[in-house]
Amino acid sequence: MDICRTTRVEELPGVGKVRAAALARLGLETAEDLLRYFPRSYEDRRKLCTIDEAPVGSPVCVRAMVAESPRRTYIRKGLELTKVKVVDGHSSLELTFFNQSYVKNALVPGESYIFYGAVEGLPPRRQMNNPVFEREDHPRFTGRILPVYPLTSGVSNSLLAGLTLRCAEQCAQDMPELLPAEVRQAHRLAAAGYAYQHIHFPADEEALNLARRRLIFEELFLLSCGLALLRERRSTGVGPVIPQMDLDAFRASLPFSLTGAQEKAIGEAAADMASGKPMNRLVQGDVGSGKTMVAAACALLAGRAGWQTALMAPTELLAEQHFRTLSGVLTPLGLRVGLLTGGQKAAEKRAVKAALASGELDLVVGTHALLSTGVDFAKLGLVITDEQHRFGVGQRAALAEKAGGDGVFLPHVLVMSATPIPRTLALIIYGDLDVSIIDQLPPGRQPVETFLVGEDKRQRMYGFVRRQVSEGRQVYLVCPAVEEAEEGMPSAHLKAATTYAQHLQTEIFPDLRVGLVHGKMKPKDKERVMAAFAGGELDVLVSTTVIEVGVDVPNASLIIVENAERFGLSQLHQLRGRVGRGKHQSYCVLVTSNRSQETRERLKTLTRTTDGFRIAEEDLKLRGPGDFFGQRQHGLPQLHIADLAGDTRVLKEAQEAAGELLEQDPDLEQPEHRPLRQQIERLFAQQADRFN
Ligand code: ADP
Ligand code: MG
Repeated sequence: MDICRTTRVEELPGVGKVRAAALARLGLETAEDLLRYFPRSYEDRRKLCTIDEAPVGSPVCVRAMVAESPRRTYIRKGLELTKVKVVDGHSSLELTFFNQSYVKNALVPGESYIFYGAVEGLPPRRQMNNPVFEREDHPRFTGRILPVYPLTSGVSNSLLAGLTLRCAEQCAQDMPELLPAEVRQAHRLAAAGYAYQHIHFPADEEALNLARRRLIFEELFLLSCGLALLRERRSTGVGPVIPQMDLDAFRASLPFSLTGAQEKAIGEAAADMASGKPMNRLVQGDVGSGKTMVAAACALLAGRAGWQTALMAPTELLAEQHFRTLSGVLTPLGLRVGLLTGGQKAAEKRAVKAALASGELDLVVGTHALLSTGVDFAKLGLVITDEQHRFGVGQRAALAEKAGGDGVFLPHVLVMSATPIPRTLALIIYGDLDVSIIDQLPPGRQPVETFLVGEDKRQRMYGFVRRQVSEGRQVYLVCPAVEEAEEGMPSAHLKAATTYAQHLQTEIFPDLRVGLVHGKMKPKDKERVMAAFAGGELDVLVSTTVIEVGVDVPNASLIIVENAERFGLSQLHQLRGRVGRGKHQSYCVLVTSNRSQETRERLKTLTRTTDGFRIAEEDLKLRGPGDFFGQRQHGLPQLHIADLAGDTRVLKEAQEAAGELLEQDPDLEQPEHRPLRQQIERLFAQQADRFN
């Protein structure tokens, strides 16, 4: 039969209703879907050997005749063996199949087959376990590099490979060419037809590499184009024009000089704010890299131009901390800085709100409550958020309203985040944000000394806590869970924060002041404990990861993380960033009773480096981007062949090529770019609203 791209799978030979339903579960409904379903790996079935020639341990094809009826034996419940001897004229080979009872009838004595598998043992006792086989008289897969696909029940690899073989032969050439000819030429990329054929049935390694590279490039190119189009949409808004001004007085007022990376981030933000379009920029920098000063410089520029700034922190404690820092820097430079938190007295709050509404304040620091109704700004021009918060579409609208606009006028937005994301990735993940990366720490920082210890060192570790406290320092002690038992975890091994804190206070450190803070406490209570720790009223703070976010207690010099194996590397790095913020040499102790070599190696990464980006890259390699960024929270289209972590070189090329193309044809309106545009819209279908 003739197969074209739109042929439905149930029309293909050998596919009935049942198989079609199983294929549909993999999202495979047409020939085109099959061609876009990429192999997970390959089997090289090109090498055909005699039994004597077959090398030990590496899979090859062997042609042989079945010499006897297969013998079936039950070893125990759930384990059944089928054994059969095959011969090729010189030698014999013993085949063993585990739990594959169909073999008994499939292999007919006296018939010849080609068996693919690894030969073990030496003559005359050569054997092969679980080979796959096909009849010698019309082999389909022998002599080829065979694709191995991700499967589901009811869909075997040979079924899928048989189907893709037909499709590759008959309609790979009809697959649409989405890459413009000049892009293919400039980057030496194979044509679509070639790629779709050889990704399934490569003629050789070189053909496979060409096909893979082309398809990875295409996927990343579509992603880059889509994200660039989203960015473009956004920039149709109008933002306050905040002229670039000389920041020398600001620089001179600081007790340190700004790092090159801070200067660069400030320069990028300043250029955005002067552009007339609303800024939407992420400043991403490792813990302690000095992001607050970037915020300060932006607020200063806005204030000088007569625009108000709102800075939002995730907690009241952090808001107070920022208020102290920022008013310290900006008040002497003539900015009027205020604080607005839920904890303030009603009269204080009223006064701050009135000052905001009348324009008597240039900068207000608070929590996200700043965006609630009842807080009015005279002239809001810049919104800064610290840590973890990103604005959704709805909140952008709220912001626009606060700025008194009509939906077209938007305030500038600056988002600060300490989650280090490998640079190439940040551009993708934060698709519609511009990104400034602060990849440099202020000079003279003493790296936090990090140790990995087992249970046997526990008493010594407590001794170390005591020593730090006796020197006037404070200690964080982090546990992964609040309650004794957590779903699916062996509770006995968990140091539950609540019981652990009690144990420490009564048994280990009766003479020290031990506090507890965990995620299930009321925000008010949490803040009270945190404030007590910040104020030096507690020596040891036992906590779950609630302290992860930007808390700055420079006197804390030791952080201990229990069950460290349960945390991601990046998360541990964030936790570690809670110490080493003052002038004292600081330490991080990771405790694990896990003996697995792999776990220990992973944790050791932290003892070797304090570079958040390197740690993030390591995390990404080990856990994959899905885990790294949580439940695909970024809303990006799913990638089928490219790997954001592994294909960074191609990613960079694809991003550049996308940029060049969009420069000539910003909306991809030219007729030759229409298929590309359509495919992008399909990919970003979940974000359709943002394309309109
Ligand atoms: P983060 O990026 O984690 O928010 P902060 O802005 O809190 O970092 O800065 C961490 C510490 O480094 C603060 O005490 C700050 O005063 C100090 N700092 C910031 N910039 C510099 C610099 N260029 N040189 C020296 N110290 C700096
Ligand atoms: Mg910070």
